[in-house]
Amino acid sequence: MREARTWVETTADDAHVRRERAKARALRQSAWWRAQLAKGRCHYCGGTFPPAELTMDHLVPVARGGRSERGNVVPCCRACNASKGCLTPAEQILDSLGLADPAAEPAPPEGGAEGPGA
Ligand SMILES: [Zn+2]
Repeated sequence: MREARTWVETTADDAHVRRERAKARALRQSAWWRAQLAKGRCHYCGGTFPPAELTMDHLVPVARGGRSERGNVVPCCRACNASKGCLTPAEQILDSLGLADPAAEPAPPEGGAEGPGA
């Protein structure tokens, strides 16, 4: 189970999810997808993997309204797939910068100037 983020809306309707999951299964059988896997490269980390180690990842997740089409699916290693969760590409960037969740604790300022007894 992927990590749930409460600030992400994942209420894509069931019909959309079922349709796109079915399309993903068909796309996995296509010569185009096999050619993507044959390149052996993870879209996210750029690592080289045997085709069997790569999974199909949706750039915009199906649960977020993404479609199973060539422009939206990429080969992805298991580690990257697990860490991506249901975030869109823009949200992943914000998340990596610690900017995605306004409710999160802000990082403490460096070298706090005003200690006790100053
Ligand atoms: Zn990767």
